[in-house]
Amino acid sequence: MPVEIPHFVAGARVPGRSGRSAPVFDPATGEVTGTVPLASRDEVDAAVAAARRAFPAWAATPPLRRARILNRFLRLLEERTDQLAAVITAEHGKVLSDAKGEVQRGLEVVEFATAAPQLLKGEVTENVGTNVDSHSVRQPLGVVAGITPFNFPAMVPLWMLPVALACGNCFVLKPSERDPSASLLLADWLKEAGLPDGVFSVVHGDKEAVDALLLSPDIAAVSFVGSTPIARYIYETATRTGKRAQALGGAKNHMVVMPDADLDLAVDALMGAAYGSAGERCMAVSVAVPVGEKTADALVARLAPRVRALKIGPGTDPEAEMGPLVTKQHLDKVRGYVDAGVAEGAELVVDGRGLKLQGHENGFFIGGSLFDRVTTGMRIYREEIFGPVLSVVRAGDFESAVAMIDDHEFGNGTAIFTRDGDAAREFATRIQVGMVGINVPIPVPMAFHSFGGWKASLFGDHHMHGPEGVRFYTRLKTITTRWPTGIRAGAEFTMPTMK
Ligand code: NAD
Repeated sequence: MPVEIPHFVAGARVPGRSGRSAPVFDPATGEVTGTVPLASRDEVDAAVAAARRAFPAWAATPPLRRARILNRFLRLLEERTDQLAAVITAEHGKVLSDAKGEVQRGLEVVEFATAAPQLLKGEVTENVGTNVDSHSVRQPLGVVAGITPFNFPAMVPLWMLPVALACGNCFVLKPSERDPSASLLLADWLKEAGLPDGVFSVVHGDKEAVDALLLSPDIAAVSFVGSTPIARYIYETATRTGKRAQALGGAKNHMVVMPDADLDLAVDALMGAAYGSAGERCMAVSVAVPVGEKTADALVARLAPRVRALKIGPGTDPEAEMGPLVTKQHLDKVRGYVDAGVAEGAELVVDGRGLKLQGHENGFFIGGSLFDRVTTGMRIYREEIFGPVLSVVRAGDFESAVAMIDDHEFGNGTAIFTRDGDAAREFATRIQVGMVGINVPIPVPMAFHSFGGWKASLFGDHHMHGPEGVRFYTRLKTITTRWPTGIRAGAEFTMPTMK
């Protein structure tokens, strides 16, 4: 029997009341394992109202005490990583070791946020004028919302909520309806760590719940991660209703392989970056750009047998390198892209479409695919596939590799593999992409730096977590103080200038 997945509002798990729901699958078997409620506007409003009630006391709680709660939450996450990873694998499908890696990258943001007293230190200037002092503080915004994608059901919420809470905000999370259960464990464990009721809530849902958050006058800011069309819609709607917004979108990440690169290193890097998590990562490398025909021939010759030999299986199989895709619908979409690539005239070197796994015939599995001689006009080049499909686009020289990347709609991550420091430095300086790796295929910034792309990969001014996260979740107030001394001068009617 599929389990009924609850919301988490005002400190307790509560069943859905809207009468609308969606199935949650085990992608390895294709079976329905849960039913997720899709919240109505009233249910969203109830979570927002609980957050509003909790806000004054939480905002007034000293940052040190907020940090202590996050510290206890951090310890719970460390102790229970395996439990959370198992829930991620059960609904997302990724292999367990990858799910544990996701939890690790998420808990590092909690670790960062435990420095709340330090992060929220303001600035002081003594004597901005004679006997006049100024100090700046960063104050919380109020109730903020997070809307997150399926591909990192724990890590992406953890990019947002630890920083938002550390800064004194209350947070309403609308996780992906495709793998909603990880967020409930986060809610339970935050409560266990001592978080007051209402400070963090989870409401499941689809567009109706998202729109309720976007249109609520009581939401001060919205953080979003997902596909570009929805990111654009979130950013436009949230800002139109006066909210602060950061909306991270899709990606098409290129990895340039220079003729002098260590090819073994580059092939290992491409295998993990293109096929890890079945390509369902916003930082996955989906385009390899070998420079020169010789480099391209050697790269494809080495990649092809490795792609054919990928170990594919359920996420719980410790031998598996790649699990299934998240849903049947997504599997059909990825298959459709491979069909489109063939129709467009790209050379399909490895075809993953025929994969059959004994005992898992109804699972959402597909093998790794490798295309060579992809050109920039093709759909498989222009659009995000979000599956285990790597396209090789051959570049004549360094300049055309750079121009190709800069011309692409997306600008999330990119990498260059080379032994030449000059080429690497030139690449990093000029490229129009937000996150750059030099001999590092997936350059995801650590928690104390900030994560975000450029162009259609991010709408808004702030990247996530790190110093940018603190700025996003706070607003600046500057206080100018004078304590009258001696004889009062009386009212002044000219423009105040410091004397
Ligand atoms: P998605 O855009 O379909 O969904 C993201 C969220 O938006 C979900 O919570 C979903 O319920 C909600 N949503 C979906 N349709 C909506 C609509 N019409 N109106 C309002 N809300 C709606 O994305 P996904 O398939 O869950 O995730 C994959 C995408 O996320 C990929 O494009 C990937 O590149 C992107 N992603 C980007 C980053 C990044 O950092 N830039 C990180 C992870 C994932």
